[in-house]
Parts: sequence; structure tokens; C-alpha cells
Amino acid sequence: MKKAMNITYEIGNKLYVNITNKCPCNCTFCIRNNGDGAYGSDSLWLEHEPSCDEIRNALDSRDLSKYVEIIFCGYGEPTNHLDALKDAAKYLKTKQNCPPLRLNTNGLSDLINDRSTANELGVLFDTISISLNAGTKSEYNAVTRPSFSNAFEAMQKFTSDCVKTPARTVMTVVDVIPKSEIDASSELCKKLGAVLRVRKYDC
Ligand code: SF4
Repeated sequence: MKKAMNITYEIGNKLYVNITNKCPCNCTFCIRNNGDGAYGSDSLWLEHEPSCDEIRNALDSRDLSKYVEIIFCGYGEPTNHLDALKDAAKYLKTKQNCPPLRLNTNGLSDLINDRSTANELGVLFDTISISLNAGTKSEYNAVTRPSFSNAFEAMQKFTSDCVKTPARTVMTVVDVIPKSEIDASSELCKKLGAVLRVRKYDC
């Protein structure tokens, strides 16, 4: 495994921010199982968890006006480095040319940080995109393989809390799951008040 300090990387006209390799899940489809990078990026395995200053410096090295969106995603769950995540989003929002910010998350921030966190995040990100992965608990656990036994319930609570914030709240599933799971996901999403996005499975 090659390690580096690639905190930011580009995919098309979007900038991605990689602030941690920690994650309480072990998803069957995780891109970390397929190699060291994403979509042609250099290695996203970090030599160490970056500090707020290191993340700010990495963002400063980019021309933000080039991007249509900045997405916190990377090779780990961003809310596992919550203070740095919030600092980076606040810092970006001070820039005049900052495009919309999106957080891609597994929705387990409340369990990771041992408190309710949607209100802190919903005022910083334009979009919060939560990986639903499946519409039923048994399938969710089979696909996401979380270390928390109550992950499915906590992810839903986090989602319904996000819906009440200014952030646009989206839940995602990949298009290779059975139609019955997509239908169940759609029902669950509707119940929580979020928008379902069925995304193409491409990794
Ligand atoms: S939540 Fe994301 S980083 Fe964590 S295992 Fe699943 S796909 Fe990988």
C-alpha cells in the first residue's frame, strides 16, 4: 500500500477532499478494496491524519474558481475527522469564489462522535449525501458491514435531522442492487424526507 499526503484530488470539474482513512464500515463495494486511488488519482492512503493547517494549505494550492463543486469524500469517512471537516468547510466559505460544498458520508457521524451532529454540518454544507446502500436493515448490514449494531437506525436519525437543516439532503444507492431494494430505499427515503439518488456503480 502506497501512502502519500494527497488531501485534494480532481475528478472532472469537481474537487475532492480526502481528510481521513478512518471508517467504521467495511462496505463490500468500497473503492479502497480495489487499489490505492480513485478514478486515476494518486494514492489516497494518508501518511497521517492531516491537521487543519495541512488541509487549509492543500485547499489554498487549488484555484477554486475551476470547480463546480467541492466534495468531502476520499478514502475514509469524513466525519471521523469532524473538527477538521468543519474547519475546512468554514474556511472555504470565507472564499469569494467557493463553489457549493457537498459532504459524502455514511451517516454514522452521531455514533462516531457520540452526539447529535447534523445541526453542525447542515449549516456548513450545501448538500449532505448519505449512503443508504439498501432499503432494509438486513441488506444494509450485509452490504455496509458497520462496526455499530445500531448503524441502520442511527443513519436514518442523522438523515432526518439533516433534512431539518438548510442543507439539501440526499440518500444514495447504487444501480446494481435488486429492484426490490431500490423500491424499499425509495420508500425509506420518502419517509425521512430526503431525496433518493440511484447512482451508477462504476468502481
Ligand atoms: S463508508 Fe465509504 S469509506 Fe467506509 S467502507 Fe463504506 S464505502 Fe468505504
